[in-house]
Amino acid sequence: MTSAPQLSFDVQLNANGRTPAEREQVLANPGFGQTFTDHMISVDYTEGRGWHDAGLVPYAPLTLDPATAVFHYAQEFFEGLKAYRQGNGSVVSFRPYANAARFNLSAQRMAMPELPESVFVESLELLVQTDREWVPTTEGHSLYLRPFMIATQVGLGVNYPSKTYRYLAIASPAASYFSGGVTPVSVWLSTEYTRAAPGGTGAAKCGGNYAAAFVAQRQAVAQGCDQVVWLDSHEHRWVEEMGGMNLFFVRGDKLFTPALTGTLLPGITRDSILTLAAELGLKAEEGRLSIEEWQSGCESGEISEVFACGTAAVVTPVGSVKGADRAWTVGDGTPGPVTLKVREELVGIQYGTRPDTHNWIHKIC
Ligand SMILES: *Cc1c(COP(=O)(O)O)cnc(C)c1O
Repeated sequence: MTSAPQLSFDVQLNANGRTPAEREQVLANPGFGQTFTDHMISVDYTEGRGWHDAGLVPYAPLTLDPATAVFHYAQEFFEGLKAYRQGNGSVVSFRPYANAARFNLSAQRMAMPELPESVFVESLELLVQTDREWVPTTEGHSLYLRPFMIATQVGLGVNYPSKTYRYLAIASPAASYFSGGVTPVSVWLSTEYTRAAPGGTGAAKCGGNYAAAFVAQRQAVAQGCDQVVWLDSHEHRWVEEMGGMNLFFVRGDKLFTPALTGTLLPGITRDSILTLAAELGLKAEEGRLSIEEWQSGCESGEISEVFACGTAAVVTPVGSVKGADRAWTVGDGTPGPVTLKVREELVGIQYGTRPDTHNWIHKIC
């Protein structure tokens, strides 16, 4: 590992950036993850030398040899967080050091080098400061930040893991993730496919997890559902998570979420909601829940609400559930009061309209 406190970013501004008018046109209707800002971060790593050639550079395609390791062996992982415009015009992010820590947990699992947390956060600060005009002012919109790392060694041989890597970070103005806003989603219980098994990469935010999930997401859509819900790999019975989001259940006066067994992605939104539960007058509980308990709980009314949570879509209600041999609705299929309260509280902290009692807000500029 390198001691990188001396790592300083070379700044190369984009001479061909978008005009203010072009930028305003993008910001009027940003969608999600479709248009990127004028700059990006790039830092190289070489075994024995550590991190080097740190730069803020114009956003541009990468030139990589077709035999580069990432294309063949998928040695890659990423993070996702947002920069939020506050009412007074300043820009903040939410718990970026938690993303930095998770970035390094992913790095360990993928046999890739860790990036000092301070370099991770500084790189995002530099990117957001440089492209601050790209942080939307529209309520509920944000600048989505996507830091990631790829293996850059060239060659198909057995000499792996790679000895060289590149850390990159890009940014994209974002409306809400699901175009329907807080409209409830319908979910498909995947009993045919598995996202993660014990000892696998389920807790790492790696692209490979997503690559393996698309076939199930496609099946969910073919079944008339919006999203896939993953179950455990062994019995296909215990609820794990939904697509790229963690799940919460309102069970009596408790907020329940599946425990982090190593096959779930440890969401920062999930962690934040567990912390906020007490303040919202709810007990928080982690454990396991079977699909039978989910169905019978909804039928008896014991489970009154279900929602998914993650950085991109914040909190999204789950309105109905379908599996190979079962289907049911959650509550009356509309967003419940606890779901809306949790969402409002989180969004309020992120946009500076609620007190930040946990020091989650990190000022950028
Ligand atoms: C990123 C992600 C989440 C949510 O994590 P947050 O830190 O809350 O954004 C949940 N599940 C998967 C599979 C993810 O990749």
